[in-house]
Amino acid sequence: MSKFWSRKVKEAKPYVPGEQPEQTDVIKLNTNENPYPPSQKTLEAMHGAINDDLRRYPTPTVSDLKRKIANREGVAPSNVFVGNGSDEVLAFVFQAFFEPNETIKFPEITYSFYPVYSNLYDISFQKVPLNADLSIDVEGLYDSVGGVIFPNPNAPTGVAMALDDIERILQNNRNQVVIVDEAYVEFGTETAVKLTKAYPNLLVTRTLSKSHALAGIRLGYAVGHEDLIEGLERIKNSFNSYTINRVSLAGAEAALEDETYYSHIINQVIQTREWASGELRSLGFNMTDSKSNFLFVKPARTTARILYESLKERGIYVRYFNQPKIDGYIRISIGTDAEMKILIEQIEEIMST
Ligand code: PMP
Repeated sequence: MSKFWSRKVKEAKPYVPGEQPEQTDVIKLNTNENPYPPSQKTLEAMHGAINDDLRRYPTPTVSDLKRKIANREGVAPSNVFVGNGSDEVLAFVFQAFFEPNETIKFPEITYSFYPVYSNLYDISFQKVPLNADLSIDVEGLYDSVGGVIFPNPNAPTGVAMALDDIERILQNNRNQVVIVDEAYVEFGTETAVKLTKAYPNLLVTRTLSKSHALAGIRLGYAVGHEDLIEGLERIKNSFNSYTINRVSLAGAEAALEDETYYSHIINQVIQTREWASGELRSLGFNMTDSKSNFLFVKPARTTARILYESLKERGIYVRYFNQPKIDGYIRISIGTDAEMKILIEQIEEIMST
């Protein structure tokens, strides 16, 4: 600790991201990245953006990208906010819509950045326990004082919520903002974007990190009523007007024009998920019905910690949450078929020793 630290720094409880090993010869199934590369057109566009224009600031309004996102989502550009990964969008959300003295609600088991931002911005929160089957307690999210945030599908459980239930949460929080974090929605869940027209208190956040294999360019966005979007713009412009760099912008715009490729890799991930879950079930593993690009599994015949450590020794990284209520589980991001075959073989070996 330094005597120069502010109270904020002293009290910060930063998010601990999944391991990013230096070695390249490992099988990395721990941070929900897409196992396939970005499309050729996306890469070419980014290469093309490395030119003399880099001496200039990028666009502060991000108009072209907003137009493309608006077309994709069936909304107007004024309903779109763009940020440097959805983590940054969420950071702005906490500043724009939540008040220090008004307790917000989120599920007890959920994306662990929510309590981090709450602490950073002095926002009090109430954690709503999951149901016994690890689904979100819908009614538990009713009647918040300060707002609601949850992922759909939830992370790290992968369990999806029906749009009817989301609508009920919105109806029971008419004077609060409800954030639906759709980081994984493309892998089998219906998006809540269409509800944004009827519910001015709904903000949906999305990312190109998972579905579009672009975690490295940090590009996320939000869709909602234009007043909410204007609030986010005010916070962003009070912080840094140029959050999206020119290379990321070129990549994101090209990616959104190449949906045939991305639907193909999304479908591939879904197929591999279904195959791998069948294999793990036949080995006696329990798991949730994941609609994400990861599986949330309770191992058979060994503990989650031992399985995580044994896999790591064999060069396979999965995510273990040393956290009450879910310490019996590991989260396995879906890799290529070849990677998942090796994973299953190694698990069989570990279980037989
Ligand atoms: N929300 C959830 C639920 C996530 O799991 C993640 C990825 N770790 C994010 C948001 C952030 O994604 P990104 O910043 O890469 O857009």
